[in-house]
Formats: sequence, C-alpha cells, structure tokens
Amino acid sequence: MKFDLDQNTRKEILIAVTEKLEDYYANTKACKITPTIDVANIKNLVSQVDLINGMDNFEAIDYVTKNLKENSVHTPHPSYFGLYNPRSNYAGIIADLITAYFNPQLAAWSHAPFAVEVEAHLIAELASKFGYSTNKFDGVFATGGNEANQTAVLCALNNQYPNFNRDGIFSVSKKPIIYCSEEAHHSVHKAAKTAGLGYNSVIPIPVGNDQKLDTTILKEKIEVSTQSNHAPLMIIGTAGTTGAGIIDDLVEINNIAKEYNIWFHVDAAYGGAAALSEKLRNQLKGIELSNSITFDAHKWMSVPMGASVFITSHPNILAKTFSISTEYMPKDADKLEVVDPYCHSIQWSRRFIGLKLFLSLLFYGWKGYEETINHQADMADLLRNKLTNNGWVVLNKSNLPVVCFTDEKNKNDQNFTTQILENIYENGNSWLSVYPINNINCFRACITNYNTTESELDELIEELNIERDKYTK
Ligand SMILES: *Cc1c(COP(=O)(O)O)cnc(C)c1O
Repeated sequence: MKFDLDQNTRKEILIAVTEKLEDYYANTKACKITPTIDVANIKNLVSQVDLINGMDNFEAIDYVTKNLKENSVHTPHPSYFGLYNPRSNYAGIIADLITAYFNPQLAAWSHAPFAVEVEAHLIAELASKFGYSTNKFDGVFATGGNEANQTAVLCALNNQYPNFNRDGIFSVSKKPIIYCSEEAHHSVHKAAKTAGLGYNSVIPIPVGNDQKLDTTILKEKIEVSTQSNHAPLMIIGTAGTTGAGIIDDLVEINNIAKEYNIWFHVDAAYGGAAALSEKLRNQLKGIELSNSITFDAHKWMSVPMGASVFITSHPNILAKTFSISTEYMPKDADKLEVVDPYCHSIQWSRRFIGLKLFLSLLFYGWKGYEETINHQADMADLLRNKLTNNGWVVLNKSNLPVVCFTDEKNKNDQNFTTQILENIYENGNSWLSVYPINNINCFRACITNYNTTESELDELIEELNIERDKYTK
C-alpha cells in the first residue's frame, strides 16, 4: 500500500472520476429528485465499509458517487424549485478542484499573495456593486451567510462598545438588542447566541401587508427598548427573505437606524445578486447606506458551497474586531501595507473561497451573470403568468424569482398543499416547498437553477394541475 499514488494511477482515477461526474452533470434531469429515505439502510451503507484496510480506489469512487446519486435531494436538477440551493456552475466546480490541488493558505498574506489579492479585489468589486464608496469599505470571505451574519453582530458590538475587544460582554451594562423582520433568517438568532447575547436579544418585528418589516412597529419597539434597560445594537434589513423573497424597505430602515444611531446591517444572502442586474438593481435601494452587508455567492451566483462575503462601510472595524498578534504567524503584512485575512475574520486557516467566484467571473464575466440573473427573473415572471392562466393565485409580492401560490378554492384547506407535495416528492419529477402567507399554506417555487427553462415550468404546472384534479375529485 502506498500513500503517495503514482502518476499513472492518479491519471486513471481522474479519468474515472471525470466520467462519473460528467455523466451526472449532463444527465441530472434523468435523476429522481427526491430519494426514497430508509434511515437504517443508509446508516448501514456508511457503517459497513472497511475503514481499517480501506478498499480499491476505483471501488471507492463508485461507492461514493453511487451513494450520493441515490441518496441526495438533487438540488442541481432543473426542476428543483427549492430553497436557495443552486446547480454549481462549471467554473465554480473546477475552481474547487484547483483550490484542493494548490491548497493555498490564506491566513497570512505572505503565504498566498495572489489568492489574498484576488479575494480583496472581489470584495472591492462587490462593495462597488452595492454602492459603497470606493475608498471606504472593507470585507472578507466567509463560509456562508451564517458566518457573515455572525461577523456583523461582532462588528456592531465592537463598534458600539470601546472595551468590547478586551472585556467582551462584561463591558456592556444594558442588554444589546437586535431588531429584524419576523421573516428574517434564523442565522440572526444563532449569531446572537454565539456572540453571547442570547436568543432573546433578537426582537422580531412583524411584517405589514406588503410582507416587509413594519417600520412603524420597529420605531415603537426601539422607543420601548431605550426607555427600559435595553440598548439597541443593530437593525437587520433582509434583502430576499427565505420564505417569500421579500426585500425590506432599506431606505426607511436606514433612516430609523441613523435617527437612533444604530448599526444597520443588510442580510442580502440571496437577494444581493439583484445588484448585478440593471433591471433588478433598484430593488436594493438603500443598501448603499448600510453599515454592513451579508451576501452569499453560493446562492444566486451558483458557485458551489460555501462562499459568502461580509462587506462593511467601516474600513477599520474588522481589524478592530478580529486582529490578534502572535509570535508564530508571518509578520510581512505589517511592512507591506497589506492585510492578513486571519486578522479580519472568524476563521484562521483559510481555504481559497474566492476562487470559485473569480474563475466564474473569468469564464462568464459580470455580463454573463447579468444575463443569467435576468433569465431566472424572466422564468419567474413566466411562471407567475402560467400559474394565473391555470387557475392558481400568487400570494407573495416579490420581484425576485420566488413564487408563492395556492389554489383559490382550496386555499383554506390546510391539507391541500401538504398532500399534493407528498405526491410530488413521491413522483420525484419536481421539487418545491411549502410556505405560509397570511396563514395560507402556499406552494413555494424558486427559480434557483440557471438552466431551468420554460419546459420545466410547463412540466411543473402540468403535474400541479393533475394533482389538484386528483385531490378535488
Ligand atoms: C441562506 C441565508 C442565510 C444563511 O446563509 P448560509 O449561507 O446558509 O449560512 C442567511 N440569511 C438569508 C436571508 C439567507 O437566505
């Protein structure tokens, strides 16, 4: 047995892997989207392999790819109208392979100058797309929106409390409060928990009829907080809610944040990609006024997980929050006027996350992204039209490709959606989720895949119509 495989074996393995992966990538649509779940069987599949001696390399590759194929929800499928999980674009896939080969260490600038500068340049490009001033921003790549939101809470705390860096939560006398829409992503609560503030420090603000955070109630809640033993810390506006794809009124939220001197963060994990389209950009009006932004490249920009960015209009806050000095880390950055990412981030050892986005831009350009994003928005418009023409009603008011709908006659029947979804999952031809709007259980279809076309929309509607007929019969 040899740990270091010889060149011929490596080539043969690469060819075998490429064949399997290409077969999956080219024929994703032939897969049944939803696997049949048999927990005992899956546990057995994993636990019965011989990890003491291992197995033949080629058998190992068969084993892994076969089981991923048979036991995953196929989010890369063009009829996966699901959560914000994309089909990985090809440049992103190749970038992850290249990253694994070179395995650059991005903790310190001097170990990976090209990689660190690529990420810094991408942060600058994105900051400018979001309308931040070109000389007043900073940012860092993160594993996901969860880490980026956590970064935001820590930055807000360090901005608000001069001694937070040294004394942490013991430097805070009143309970810091985070306000966000009740439709905000629950990574906000997680961020509050991991920052030591606790779940209850998040005050969810109800949404109005437009499904946006109700700014009148927001102001009332801030007033109540300031009169009690609470200290408002930050307001989070969501740009693209997870449920209904709604963008809060960012301009009005910013006005309130400025009035009370509170950190304004925009969670644009999904909807931030609207900034890349001339047609959709104005939906994000107000984002340029924020103190910080979360944006996931692994959602609408279709790079493989996990790739997110945290961007802030405060150039010094990341260093203030995360810098640390050690004896053993390279010190070159001090002399070179460059930034060591480990001093700007929750992470230490860092993977070259940014390459997935950089290579995608080298392959397709911002222009290619704009076309793709517009295509997905157009597909959602088409889906709304087709649904309406087939007697369905759309209940969310989103301009992003998220469509929540139901059937007028059956809308108050709680079982209608869940029963039909059960059948759809069983069929395995399409995948969509359920989301309540005004207490009505809606179907939720997101065009999250860049290669979803009109045929997939027609197939979805045909299946929905058939299931509705079966249900009402
Ligand atoms: C997906 C999402 C998150 C969480 O991001 P991850 O990348 O899954 O960690 C946070 N906020 C919003 C609005 C999201 O859509």
